[in-house]
Amino acid sequence: MLAMNRYVKNRYISFCLGCIIVIGILQTFFSKLVELVPSFSPLLFPTLTIFLLVFHLFIACFMAMKYWCDRRRLYLLPIAFAFIGSALLMVGTLSSFPAWLDLYQFNVVNYNDAMIFYMFRHILMAVLIIASAILYTLRNHPLSRLSHIFIVAGVLVFTLSMVTLSWFYSSHSPLLSVDLVDNETRQFMVLWSQAVNIILIILWIVTLLTLMIITRVKNLFWIGGNFLCICYVVTLLMLLFGGHTEDISWYRSRLFETVATLLIIFVLLYDVFNLYRDSHLKYQQSYQNSIRDPLTRLYNRSYFYDSLNQSLSTAKETRPVSVIVSDLDRFKRINDCYGHLQGDKVLQFVSNLLMDSVRPQDIAARIGGEEFVLMLSNTSSDAARQVAERIRLKLSSFDKASSGGQLPEPITISMGVFTATSPEITAEECVESADKAMYEAKETGRNRVVVYQ
Ligand code: GH3
Ligand code: MG
Ligand code: MG
Repeated sequence: MLAMNRYVKNRYISFCLGCIIVIGILQTFFSKLVELVPSFSPLLFPTLTIFLLVFHLFIACFMAMKYWCDRRRLYLLPIAFAFIGSALLMVGTLSSFPAWLDLYQFNVVNYNDAMIFYMFRHILMAVLIIASAILYTLRNHPLSRLSHIFIVAGVLVFTLSMVTLSWFYSSHSPLLSVDLVDNETRQFMVLWSQAVNIILIILWIVTLLTLMIITRVKNLFWIGGNFLCICYVVTLLMLLFGGHTEDISWYRSRLFETVATLLIIFVLLYDVFNLYRDSHLKYQQSYQNSIRDPLTRLYNRSYFYDSLNQSLSTAKETRPVSVIVSDLDRFKRINDCYGHLQGDKVLQFVSNLLMDSVRPQDIAARIGGEEFVLMLSNTSSDAARQVAERIRLKLSSFDKASSGGQLPEPITISMGVFTATSPEITAEECVESADKAMYEAKETGRNRVVVYQ
């Protein structure tokens, strides 16, 4: 418990240090930029908003797709809605800057509207991120279908109501109104600078603390989430210290938000990369498990027959395919005298020897209890007999000591070789013929190789 607390504490410290470094770098970058560019173009703000809108749509789609792949990750849905809602509210912001589309209107900027959409955007995102963190705690408790639908509906209604409310408060509707910026002087109103701005900062600090406590900055995904909260606190602090919409802080905060969002997108992409890598690894592991025998790790029967059929389709005189069927001699005795566990060790020892005795393009498989088969592609009957003979001699040379205790006593193997030189012959016929040769080896004294005639 103590070790785990220390581990979490270290994670918090590394996260905070990382944030300080990233924010420090961004701040230095902006300070240099301000030195180089003394006054920003009025089009910069809507341009950055368009970038941010695209980034938010990207994140929303990413979250929605991740949720779609695994419905148990319901906590992703509020985040998806937070970013979709945010993108919609940014469309509102763009409508307050008609100059981004129509250059002749570049004096007609409705800063108050922009600020209203901005305020609702923060409320929407912070509340939905808190909702997501709460749902994250329930991820291991399966929710009923009804509660699932209820939560989805709740998130949807909340998002739509925030977007609708912002529209009603904006100049697009006469129904409601609020003054955050004086459009004449472009000064922030007291309501913004002494109430809303501070409330939004507190809201993001609460969101950050909730997220940190619940998620413990656990993985890359939540590192991104926590970093987003810190970025919004910094962005709002920048606005708090600037009193004017055409002040440098206005552009600086938007530039900061855009670059920070881009960083979060990179974090999410890296998360996707990790997920892909993990699932690919799992796929490879389960594929290998499906084609291999669990005890010996040799290929299984079905994989062997598939591979043999494939090789036989191109078999000809100049490209023969050889099959060697092998059966351990008097193996039942090993089981009876030393037990099944020791018998299994013998099977593993023989399997390793078989695997090490063939080329990478050959197939070594276990097709029965202690019956093995080798498929040697592009190998003549004579070459296959030599391979079999080498394996037989090698196996018979081991005793208990030289096998590291894997063999309780020396053991021998009987082997039958068959070579196909035309594609007409089937895999079953090949194995049957090699099997016949192997039985002949048994009948003629065991511990020998017989080639099918
Ligand atoms: P032969 O020389 O005629 O082949 O004699 P044998 O005793 O080897 O006879 P057979 O091939 O019929 O014996 C097969 C034995 O293999 C029977 C069974 O107890 C044992 N066996 C089959 N599968 C396994 C396994 O997975 N683990 C162990 N330990 N033994 C197995
Ligand atoms: Mg046997
Ligand atoms: Mg057998």
